[in-house]
Amino acid sequence: MLTKDEKYMKEAIKQAKKALKIDEVPIGCVIVQDDKIIARGYNKRNQKGSVLEHAEISAIKKACKKTGDWRLEDCTLYVTLEPCQMCAGALVQCRMKRVVVASMNAKAGCAGSVINLLQMAQFNHQVELTTGVLDEECSTMLSDFFKELRKKKKKLKKLRKEQEEN
Ligand SMILES: [Zn+2]
Repeated sequence: MLTKDEKYMKEAIKQAKKALKIDEVPIGCVIVQDDKIIARGYNKRNQKGSVLEHAEISAIKKACKKTGDWRLEDCTLYVTLEPCQMCAGALVQCRMKRVVVASMNAKAGCAGSVINLLQMAQFNHQVELTTGVLDEECSTMLSDFFKELRKKKKKLKKLRKEQEEN
């Protein structure tokens, strides 16, 4: 039996897989209000050519549109990778009640790894935080993606070298 957090994280993983399909870094999220998913998002940074197209930002936009309110104080966001500084900032700004993270991001995460922007006493809002939900599944998905990417790059390099030699 899955816990409620695991159930919604599975939905976030489904979103991450959509990113994977278009060769984006697989990161996905959902926003839940009153035990219902009100918004979904996945990483489209390359497709849209914009650094603003992170999964969380796109889901926050949709949730605000749906609720007609920039405040998401009674919502929970489930995301497959620890939010960056931009997304963590947006999560504080929209007063997200709770954030559930699968995998931490040691080099760039801003929910405890590099800094914990979600829970700074100095800001006017702190977000409840749960980490490590379906961590293994999400970490594997990410490391597989980067492994494939390195393979592709290697192949490309080899191909170029061959072309140069001919
Ligand atoms: Zn982000």
